[in-house]
Amino acid sequence: MTTETTPVPEEVLSALRKHKRVLIAAHAHPDPDAMGSSLAMAWALRAIGLEALVFNEDGMAPCLKFLTLPGPVLSSLDKLPCEPDLVVCLDCGDRARLGETIQPLLDRVPTVNIDHHLANPRFGTEANWVDPGMAATGEMVAYIAKALRVTLNGAIAEALYVAISADTGNFSYGNTTPGALRLVAEMAEQGLKLSHLRECMENNWTEARLRLWGRAMQNARILEDGRLAAALITLEDLRECNASREDSEGIVEQLRRLSGVRVALMLREEEKNGKVESKASLRSSGKDNVRDVAAQFGGGGHRNAAGATLPLTAEKALTVMQPYIRFVWNRLQ
Ligand code: 5GP
Ligand code: MN
Repeated sequence: MTTETTPVPEEVLSALRKHKRVLIAAHAHPDPDAMGSSLAMAWALRAIGLEALVFNEDGMAPCLKFLTLPGPVLSSLDKLPCEPDLVVCLDCGDRARLGETIQPLLDRVPTVNIDHHLANPRFGTEANWVDPGMAATGEMVAYIAKALRVTLNGAIAEALYVAISADTGNFSYGNTTPGALRLVAEMAEQGLKLSHLRECMENNWTEARLRLWGRAMQNARILEDGRLAAALITLEDLRECNASREDSEGIVEQLRRLSGVRVALMLREEEKNGKVESKASLRSSGKDNVRDVAAQFGGGGHRNAAGATLPLTAEKALTVMQPYIRFVWNRLQ
């Protein structure tokens, strides 16, 4: 794609060009799209001479430690070298997804909001680019880098690849766009090592993760005449497997592989301020809309991949979610 046909809104490019000290932030508990697009944005802005820092409330995503970083990923805003004059928000369906730490800064510094989630309320104060047709926020950052005439090779290409590949299920989900495939082809032409990156992304399991997955599969519940598969991961499961929150990433996709399943659900318990809450991850295919289910519980996401956090144990969360999940197929029948 040439700069003449860029899909990037002019207001986004001019906001980036007119500022000097940019803080880049994405949603807390960063997934590869959130973190990869943040790192790629930092590389792109550095390439055009801006100062760019990356912040994430939960720091660097451990599964992406193999990437070359443009600098440390800050998890605190206490010791910033100077006040940023712009905050670029990436992959956040709403402002709250950025976490609590950054909220005061967002009240006083102009923001650009770049995102591909449905129903993003366009919370950017300086510019917004919201396009649910984009495969990943990484795809959007790639178009921004190209519009700024930054070559997609080396570390920026690796960060973009992990972002796009993760959000598209390695280029297999319905959100995989021809544009995303063209970008990867272009980066491969520039020397991106696809097999090396897949090795880094996939063959990196810990024993704790293996044990947790085994337990989740063993105890998975097949409900609603085989249309719903649910994995409940309790605090006890995590403790006994010595597993972390990250170790459960991917379990919900595995559940969806079961023939006949229309909605896969993972409920993972967490402890917050001494109380148990459950992070719900929902997956579906085609027209089955799980974002609407997540939205009932204050969450959001995409039609086929969505999430929310419920202030309940996993068992209770399943009970309250099940009637809304039924609605997914009842509405389409
Ligand atoms: P995951 O289940 O992998 O955490 O998230 C799936 C999709 O739903 C991602 O696009 C993610 O950004 C979105 N999502 C997950 N949890 C939440 C949430 O609590 N609120 C909103 N708005 N979106 C979420
Ligand atoms: Mn994303």
